[in-house]
Order: sequence, then C-alpha cells, then structure tokens
Amino acid sequence: SSKLSKTITLPTGETYEQPTGLFINNEFVSGKQGKTFGVINPSTEEEICEVAEAMPEDVDSAVDAAEKAFNSDWSFGDPANRGKVLYNLADLMEAHKKTLTSIESLDNGKTLANAAGDVGLVINYLRFCAGYADKLDGEVVDTGSGYLNLVKREPLGVCGQIIPWNFPLLMWSWKIGPALATGNTVVLKPAEATPLSALYSAKLAKEAGVPAGVLNIVSGFGKTTGEAIATHPRIRKVAFTGSTRTGKHIMTAAAQSNIKKVTLELGGKSANIVFNDCNVDKTIQNIITGIFFNSGEVCCAGSRIFIQSGIYDTIIEKLKTAVQAIKVGNPFDPAVFQGAQTSQMQLDKILGYVEKGKEEGAHLLTGGEREGNKGYFIKPTLFTEAKPGMAIYEEEIFGPFGVITKFDTPDEALTLANNSEYGLAAGIHTENLNTAKYVSDRLRAGTVWINTYNDFHYAVPFGGYKQSGIGREMGKSSFDNYTQVKAIRTKI
Ligand code: NAD
Repeated sequence: SSKLSKTITLPTGETYEQPTGLFINNEFVSGKQGKTFGVINPSTEEEICEVAEAMPEDVDSAVDAAEKAFNSDWSFGDPANRGKVLYNLADLMEAHKKTLTSIESLDNGKTLANAAGDVGLVINYLRFCAGYADKLDGEVVDTGSGYLNLVKREPLGVCGQIIPWNFPLLMWSWKIGPALATGNTVVLKPAEATPLSALYSAKLAKEAGVPAGVLNIVSGFGKTTGEAIATHPRIRKVAFTGSTRTGKHIMTAAAQSNIKKVTLELGGKSANIVFNDCNVDKTIQNIITGIFFNSGEVCCAGSRIFIQSGIYDTIIEKLKTAVQAIKVGNPFDPAVFQGAQTSQMQLDKILGYVEKGKEEGAHLLTGGEREGNKGYFIKPTLFTEAKPGMAIYEEEIFGPFGVITKFDTPDEALTLANNSEYGLAAGIHTENLNTAKYVSDRLRAGTVWINTYNDFHYAVPFGGYKQSGIGREMGKSSFDNYTQVKAIRTKI
C-alpha cells in the first residue's frame, strides 16, 4: 500500500490493490491540497480506505488534460480507434469481473448477485457503445445544383459527469460509454460514498489504451468537486444522475456559468399497477423486484403500488408472506436477497419515513425497523392505505419501502399514477393486451414495464418525463446526448 493505493482484502478472501488517488491525465495523483476522505463499508460500518479529495484546482488540472486530449486524434481521428479502445476496456472489465463485483458489494452494500448484474450490464453496454463509435453517419442534404450540404455529428468537448452511489459502476458506464464513443473527453466525479469501482476501472481504462487526458476521475464531495464541475467555464456539458433537488441546482449552475448542455437522470416515485386479471405469482415477484431490488435504492423503483380491488386481498396476503421470507443481511452471503443501505444518512432517512407513515395514518403491513444493530440494514417495508397528500406517498424515499393503494378502474389508476411531478418509470401487470396498451399509452413515464419490472437492456433507452430528467441513456439515444450537429454548406 502507498498513499495512492491500498491493498484490500475482500470478504471473499481475495486481495486486490485499490487505487486511492485522483486519476488525472492517466496518472493517479494526490489532490493539490493533499486532502483525503474515508470510504465506509455499509455492511460493517468500518472504514475501507481513504481516497483523495479533489478541490477546484484539481478539477482545473483535469479539465486542462481533457481539453488537450480533445484537440487530438481522439476526436478528429478514425472513430474505429475509439471503438477498439472501448472493446478493450469491456474485455478487461470482463477479465476483472469477479473483483469488480466484490468491490461494488463492499462499497455500496448491494448483494453480490445485484453487483454481478450491474457489472454484466456495464460490459454489454460498453460493447454496444464501442460498436456505435464508427456508425454515427451524417447526411447530405440536396438543395439543388450549386451547393453541397453536409450535416455531421460532432462531439461536444470536455464533458463533466456527476454520478450517484446506488449503481456506482453502472452509472460510470452509462456516462463514459457514449461520451467516449463519440469522441468527447471526460471529467467524472463518483459519489463520495462509493468512489472505489470508478477508480479501479480507471486503471483498466489506461490499460485498455484510453489516451492520457481522455478520462479523468475526480473523487470528492458535491459542494466542492461537483460544484467546480457544474460551474466550470471550459466544461461544455454536464451529465448528472441523482436527486431532483441537486439536478435543479446543477442545471442552474450550468446555465449561469456557460450554458452547458445538460442531461439529467433524476428521482422518481414510480407507479406499479396491478390489475384483477394479472398472473398472481409472477406479479408478486415483479412487485418485489420493483421495490426491493438493490435494497430499494433505485431511481425507477416501483415504490407506489396500485392494486385493483378485485385482486387486492389475494395480492396483499401473498405479498406479505413473500416479503417476510426475504433474507436481509451480509451482501456476500448468496442466500441474502437484500443487502445494506449505502449510508447511515439513507438508513436514518428511511426510518424517519416509517414514523411519518404511522403518523399520517397509513397501515404498516410489514417491516419498518432495522435488521440487526451493525450495518445499515432495514427490513423490507410496506404500508397499505397510502393516500395522495401523505409524505410517504408523494416523496422519493429511496429504500426498501413501498406504499400500497387500492383502485377500481384503469382510468382511476392512470389518474393516480400520473398525479406526480416525477415520470421516470411505471409497471403494469395484466394478461389483457387491450388494458396494457391503453394504460401504457397514457402513462406519463419514460419507461413502461409490462409484466416485468426493473428490467433493463443496454439497447433500450432509459430516462425521465417531467421532473425525472432530460435526455435518455442507453440505446441509440445515448449518442444524441454527446454530439452536436454541424452543417457545412459549400457553394460550388
Ligand atoms: P445527490 O443528488 O445530492 O448526489 C448525487 C451526486 O451529486 C453525488 O455525486 C454528489 O456528490 C453530487 N452533488 C451533490 N450536491 C452537488 C452540488 N451542489 N453540485 C454538484 N454535484 C453535487 O443525492 P444524495 O444527497 O446522495 O441522496 C439524496 C437523495 O437523492 C436520495 O435519498 C434519493 O432520494 C435521491 N437519489 C436519487 C438517485 C437517482 O438515481 N435518481 C441517486 C441517488 C440519490
């Protein structure tokens, strides 16, 4: 171990070398002020290591490196070269899959199964981006003889990217994949709670042949490092995933500094709607995946569960039994379904909502308390009799905490579901295609899942309506967020 890396023994027994410096211009370095901060294992509440904290002057150095790299062959050369580098990176991540999976469980508290799912999606998505690098064709617009009009897509320049702690590595890939494939350069800030997988992967990026300055990782806090990115005069775009509140702040900072292009993937309070004619057993599983997958720390979690009156009692009874059988605890234990919440702050926030729910007159069906007394574990929690106006019904809780409301008709479910400032996702459970089509057409949400939930594919776009965001990630849409159109009109 040195100041810029630490040897860490994982709960699996494996030992690995964790980079702990800032990654600027393809080197791990200390911050200019020499500051560091501790990273906590949420399952044990013990410190894993200290990592360097980037201050605004470090963000400046990263932008210098990224600007220099942008004005090079990286953005002007053959795009197939960028594709090749991204394929190499995906291959290396595949070779390191086991370690990456463990790092993610250690740092975030999610189960190994959840982490393995994330890493698999990361690898697939990086390959999808790699394959797109040399396929971003332009067009020729015919305006008659005498002119030649070329329309092409170009990268934006240095992109600032700020990501959250619930899917540390997955969000890293959703951000850097399309940015690098299209020839941009990047200054990325991981969340202060979970910087480890991004730093580890930076080492792999260098090994994969990502040129110096193309990818810079500046670990640090929102109010200093994040703010320096959002306000930086030479960063041309900021991409953010996190809370709507911080998203608004970043959008304002982007506007006031230099009209940065902005993409935002923000919060949600997504509706998961169960109809009388659903397949009951599959629906129970989909409700559970909807709200308890990844310990409920999912922006598109199906946290408002609407159940039609004819099937209500049956679903509630079976759901309660299934939820009480969920094993919560050590994320490295393969029998565990739900790991730890990522921070003490989140645990306290969720427990606060349990009290609020009781005060507001909702009925606690199950859960509502800590699991054990060490580590940030909480029992999967469901409230019934949740109503519009209650805080537990309106606000994003971001934990294993669902609220249940009864409805009678599809139109009533639609009114309830759409009556939210959020619009990230929604779920429908029915065997009737007519109902599925009618309801999915009318839901104001960026993703609608039918007879499934929290079911992602790298080729399918993801993003929010209303205050859940701007822009789409994954799928072909991701490349729109990182390119701008240039028209070249020649008089001949
Ligand atoms: P946050 O939105 O404040 O933090 C997300 C990222 O933004 C982190 O990297 C953070 O350092 C950075 N950040 C914070 N303030 C910033 C600022 N002023 N300028 C630039 N960057 C800044 O979220 P949080 O405080 O960690 O969590 C609070 C709540 O946000 C959660 O309880 C949850 O409801 C929600 N959340 C949503 C998502 C999502 O994917 N939609 C992810 C994380 C958190």
